Amino acid sequence: MIRSITQIKPLEEIERLLEGLGRVFIIGCGTCATLTQTGGSPEVEAMKGQLSEKGKVITGVTVVPVACDHLTGQILNDIATPLKQADALLVMSCAFGVQTIAHQMGKTVIPALNTLFIGRETGAGEFNESCNQCGTCVIGETGGICPVTACHKGLVNGPCGGTNNGKCEIDSDKDCAWTAIYNRLTQLGRLDSMRRYQKPRNHLGEPSPGKFRIPV
Ligand code: SF4
Ligand code: SF4
Repeated sequence: MIRSITQIKPLEEIERLLEGLGRVFIIGCGTCATLTQTGGSPEVEAMKGQLSEKGKVITGVTVVPVACDHLTGQILNDIATPLKQADALLVMSCAFGVQTIAHQMGKTVIPALNTLFIGRETGAGEFNESCNQCGTCVIGETGGICPVTACHKGLVNGPCGGTNNGKCEIDSDKDCAWTAIYNRLTQLGRLDSMRRYQKPRNHLGEPSPGKFRIPV
């Protein structure tokens, strides 16, 4: 399953962000941040202990099922009193969850995590980036393997010269994405699609912030 992969910020940074905010309510997320062990119940309780030791008053803690879901506001409003008592909400979820809560709650919201990438669990406690939402998806021609994220150089027109026995020249622990693509396309009998040239992307054509409207 695809997840937002997060990492807990250093405690010193969280303390700095909470400067002058003595009363804190901590919110974890029961989905991605629970899986990555950055914002589930044990991490929320550990954060409560650490901040209490630093002199913060913790008015309450909770772990919402899916922080980035629009229902989060409703769930949090059911525990309105300890939330109101807090000077700030410390959110242990990915940035989507933090933004959802900031938008819905009208209170100071502090992120406790850094959001690293959208990824997939590839082994016990191991997560790999799956897609960086490049806007020009090429995986229809690469056997469903994304070269933009899986290749260290983000090459979309075949491998570099450094492939070594199926491993990447930059990180010998990592499989070469283009060897994997070659093998997958061979299996599928679609090796010809490796010959198709992928045009350079027009980075200038992507306005920020990204917006999309369904054409009418
Ligand atoms: S090519 Fe890779 S990064 Fe780009 S949209 Fe497709 S899966 Fe995502
Ligand atoms: S060895 Fe493979 S994965 Fe590594 S940079 Fe070259 S083509 Fe990409």
